[in-house]
Amino acid sequence: MAKIGFIGLGNMGGPMARNLVKAGHEVNVFDLNQHAVSELSDDGATACKNSTDVAKGADFVISMLPAAKHVTSLYLGEDGLINHLASNTVVIDCSTIDAASAKHVGDTLRDKGIAFVDAPVSGGVAGAAAGTLTFIVGGEQSVFEKVEPVLNNMGKNIFHAGDIGAGQVAKICNNMLLSILMAGTSEALQMGINHGLDPKVLSQIMLNSSGRNWTLELYNPCPGVIESVPSSNNYEPGFMVDLMAKDLGLAMEAAQHSGSATPLGAMSKNLYTMLQNQGAGKQDFSSIFTLFEKK
Ligand code: NAD
Repeated sequence: MAKIGFIGLGNMGGPMARNLVKAGHEVNVFDLNQHAVSELSDDGATACKNSTDVAKGADFVISMLPAAKHVTSLYLGEDGLINHLASNTVVIDCSTIDAASAKHVGDTLRDKGIAFVDAPVSGGVAGAAAGTLTFIVGGEQSVFEKVEPVLNNMGKNIFHAGDIGAGQVAKICNNMLLSILMAGTSEALQMGINHGLDPKVLSQIMLNSSGRNWTLELYNPCPGVIESVPSSNNYEPGFMVDLMAKDLGLAMEAAQHSGSATPLGAMSKNLYTMLQNQGAGKQDFSSIFTLFEKK
């Protein structure tokens, strides 16, 4: 069993750290939110008073923070962890951030002899709680082999996408495609509804035709077609519009850095920005369906 430091115990990090405790690891935790730290220590983790203490003697340090500025400041900021990590500690950053920042942090740590992978996740809060997340890892093969057994305690599918930063690129490609599929599925369903079609029947027809896709099959955006998904529960998240809009911002940055043409991604980003401007930021991302409603 390993000694693991975990920093960032929010909606995702909390349940992920809990699964590491359940797996029998010695887990030291820190979050700026004291309540989140207390909850984890009630469940068997050791509470630390700052991130430096979390990193002391750790085999692995895992971070799950909101955005790039938090990750950069944690590792490279004034008195950042780069000054405190032992050279045998492996750093795993699971936050969703831009690939350039992941590369900057990872390469800077690697230059100091500290191994790093970016390992953003897919699967949401439910996947974090169930330990069924998908991890998309960027880093050297030898480091990937070291982190894989630890990630297996929190996830079901662990992919090695390439070198440092590649995990973030793959994650953002997936989420850009997901947003386009969600918008396209919503548009098609609404057109059918406007012609008097039953959305359940139309969904079945498209599911057995060439329009079949994940959003239509497992996350249908039209209320009442699938009972257990956010659209049938007032678009309670799930995966928030605000987070999808953030990821589409990262996708546009990645497109710019690589000179990639992403016209559909750009349009999708605009649609999600419109949704945010209508006050739907905290709703599930499938609520884009409502943008296409005939008023
Ligand atoms: P969250 O806001 O619930 O949690 C973030 C936590 O980090 C908070 O508890 C905050 O107090 C803590 N924090 C911030 N700065 C800190 C610091 N310097 N030191 C210690 N703690 C600090 O966010 P979340 O939903 O858990 O998401 C975390 C990351 O996972 C994000 O990058 C998000 O895009 C990504 N993600 C989220 C989901 C989802 O469904 N929520 C799914 C996939 C990926």
